[in-house]
Amino acid sequence: MNHVGDGPGSAARAAAGPALYVHVPFCAVPCPYCHFSKEHVSGAAVERWLAALELEAIRWAPAARGIAFRSLFFGGGTPSALSPRHFQRAWDTVTRHLELAPDAEVTLEANPETVKPGLLDAWAQAGVNRLSMGAQSFVPEELAALGRIHDHEKPGQAIALARAHGFERLSVDLMFGYPGHRIDHWRHTLDAALALRPEHVSAYGYIPEHDTPMGDAVARGERRTVSPECEAEMHAIADQRFIAAGLAPYETSNWSRPGAECRHNLAYWLRRDYLALGPSAHALWRGERSANARALADWADRLERGADPAVERERETPESRADETLMLGLRLASGLDLDDLPAEVRAEFEARYAEPLAAGVAGARLERTRHGWCIPAAQRYVADDTIAWLAVRARPLAGAERAA
Ligand code: SF4
Repeated sequence: MNHVGDGPGSAARAAAGPALYVHVPFCAVPCPYCHFSKEHVSGAAVERWLAALELEAIRWAPAARGIAFRSLFFGGGTPSALSPRHFQRAWDTVTRHLELAPDAEVTLEANPETVKPGLLDAWAQAGVNRLSMGAQSFVPEELAALGRIHDHEKPGQAIALARAHGFERLSVDLMFGYPGHRIDHWRHTLDAALALRPEHVSAYGYIPEHDTPMGDAVARGERRTVSPECEAEMHAIADQRFIAAGLAPYETSNWSRPGAECRHNLAYWLRRDYLALGPSAHALWRGERSANARALADWADRLERGADPAVERERETPESRADETLMLGLRLASGLDLDDLPAEVRAEFEARYAEPLAAGVAGARLERTRHGWCIPAAQRYVADDTIAWLAVRARPLAGAERAA
């Protein structure tokens, strides 16, 4: 069985979704490992983004009428690169057309060097109640190699300032396994991050991305990522340290204090409906997935012409729903829970995966939980292997099973 304390618990699952994402595509300096949609922050670019944001919010408003979003996430890019005035305009734009629940979780991603009293006041007054701080490392030479423009002390200073401004839900983002990363440095980073007593930590394994300076250097053989064994060890060390500090694992790359899971990200993993505004933003709404144009100019141009900002739209199928349910649900520490699924999705899922799941349990790849399955804690870091093993055994759906 999964371990006591591994989340997310039933209250957190019930509170997730519908969710709203806003992509803020600006950064002061691009980091060499990063493939997110972003460009240099300038007054003209921010003005264009704000105007197009309003056009996109207006497009979605009829579909979202009567919906009170349970979470809003300002991601990027660097949302904290917006001035207080520009942030307030973005907030007003979004909330003028789309409704937030009174107890909505509102997260903003911040880079430590940007966090200032005036901005914290603007965020708090608007309704931001959770900050996700991009620290990545606490080792000076690693920060330099990662192209970060903050020093190793800035995350601590930013978190102290945020707490002084009343923010109680603070997350720290870390990365491991990039070229040149060392286990002794990783231990130091984990200790430094935990010394800040965050309510939540995300730790992502580095993935070399095409069209990034670091990823292309890896592809050309000029840089080498750490070995898979070393990366797995780094994840295990993080897991041990976070658990010892009272942060329970609830997803492959995420740990939190009890009840401090990120409600917004849970909406993705539980496949709740989510809307998304901004360049490169992805939505899942009423059975349709869509992906916006990636570049700010392309996305804004489409909206300015009255055209669809999405460059991809795809209706879900019974098979795709079941496959995603498996892939996302098994990343959660508490596992895939049949009670989380709407009746028709549950029926499709059981038709497609009952036999592979039973075989997975028989072969000790999976454990039964009260209403579902989870990956044993020791194998969670290689969850993708188990998911792939199950997926190749999935049963094609036919006839009435596909009618849903
Ligand atoms: S990692 Fe963050 S700050 Fe760096 S380029 Fe990417 S979005 Fe910008």
